[in-house]
Amino acid sequence: MEQSKMPLRLRQEVMESGNCARCGLCVGLCPYIKTMNERIAFIHDCNREDGTCYRVCPRTPTNLSDLDKQVFGKERADHGLGNYLEILYARSLNKDLAQAGQYGGVVSTLAAYMVESGESQAAVLTKRQNNSPPTPCLARNREEVLSCSGSNYSASPTLSILNAGVRSGLEKLTIVGRPCQILGLRKMQALTERSEHNMSAKKVDFLIGLFCFWSLETEIYTYLRGKTGSARLLRMDIPQNYGVVTTENGEIQIPIDELRAFIRPTCQSCFDPTSEFADVSVGSTEYDPEWSTLIIRSTRGQEIVNKVCNAGHLETKPYPEERLPLLLNAVINKKKRVLESLSNGKGYEYLELSSDYTQGIEEGGVGR
Ligand SMILES: Cc1cc2nc3c(=O)[nH]c(=O)nc-3n(C[C@H](O)[C@H](O)[C@H](O)COP(=O)(O)OP(=O)(O)OC[C@H]3O[C@@H](n4cnc5c(N)ncnc54)[C@H](O)[C@@H]3O)c2cc1C
Repeated sequence: MEQSKMPLRLRQEVMESGNCARCGLCVGLCPYIKTMNERIAFIHDCNREDGTCYRVCPRTPTNLSDLDKQVFGKERADHGLGNYLEILYARSLNKDLAQAGQYGGVVSTLAAYMVESGESQAAVLTKRQNNSPPTPCLARNREEVLSCSGSNYSASPTLSILNAGVRSGLEKLTIVGRPCQILGLRKMQALTERSEHNMSAKKVDFLIGLFCFWSLETEIYTYLRGKTGSARLLRMDIPQNYGVVTTENGEIQIPIDELRAFIRPTCQSCFDPTSEFADVSVGSTEYDPEWSTLIIRSTRGQEIVNKVCNAGHLETKPYPEERLPLLLNAVINKKKRVLESLSNGKGYEYLELSSDYTQGIEEGGVGR
């Protein structure tokens, strides 16, 4: 990688150009990068040549083939879903986690197991704040995990607490993140030089990735307040053609076009709607809100899911064969839209895509 004033390039190419995914991983690497109201910015010029901030950013040059080999020990055969071992449906067997969870509470159940069993000292999560942007949360027990259940559809820079958490002595961490957040963490884990800056991601030993086709601008909360008034927001969901906001006073439906107006432009350049580099990825089934789709990607993911099922916290069932083409089509269509916007000169090109990869997408992804 060219070593020229990387922090400056991060500022210009990513932050000031509207390409920041707001993962939060660069926050706390140095005193100059701060977050406010979900935005991330330099508060002071940095003239260093090299910069971990630039190297680990999910929106700076990334070689997916190299990362596939580093994380999974092999290149992908499936250009839609990436590397994986198994796809299942899953739901929590813990009543409170299932009830509070977005779709079956799978993510919270995995995270709760990690902190309760001592596999992790804490889980880095995102916590709803009524009708304001959510905040990052270091959950150390089941109650704290439970308090973070449910989806917030803005791009919360959750990882902004990671570097400080590691500096405070945390050794083993679980992370729940959007695909961009998982990508940044894997880029950091892949750095070979040993420096204080590179260490945070190496303390993360279980990565739970969410499906995410797009996230919304922070202004969504002002818009929602206009709809809900002072009523406390309890839950938000986006079934395919509309949004539903549940408040203490009941449900409000929101036309999908009104929500779409808040989609962050940078999400239109993202090739990874299923968190391809996570240990496990979790997303909706698109039709049954009591279950989630669970993609087990790594042997670590398999080991933890087995432990959580054997402990009686999670149940799984086979992924219906007839649903796989639907999932794959949704993912491939998203990737094709990104390729098209790149060929129109509208997209933001940051991934080093081999011809195998782009051809795999054009041909429909499958190839396992
Ligand atoms: C911005 C966003 C977009 C999504 N888009 C899709 C989609 O297009 N298709 C799809 O199938 N699924 C999507 N999901 C995932 C889905 O909403 C559920 O999170 C997932 O199915 C897990 O459900 P669960 O019941 O197991 O999660 P729960 O047990 O409820 O746990 C949810 C976890 O999500 C974390 N979280 C909440 N908000 C955020 C955030 N903004 N950033 C990072 N982490 C967060 C919390 O820390 C919590 O641990 C999206 C999620 C988010 C946050």
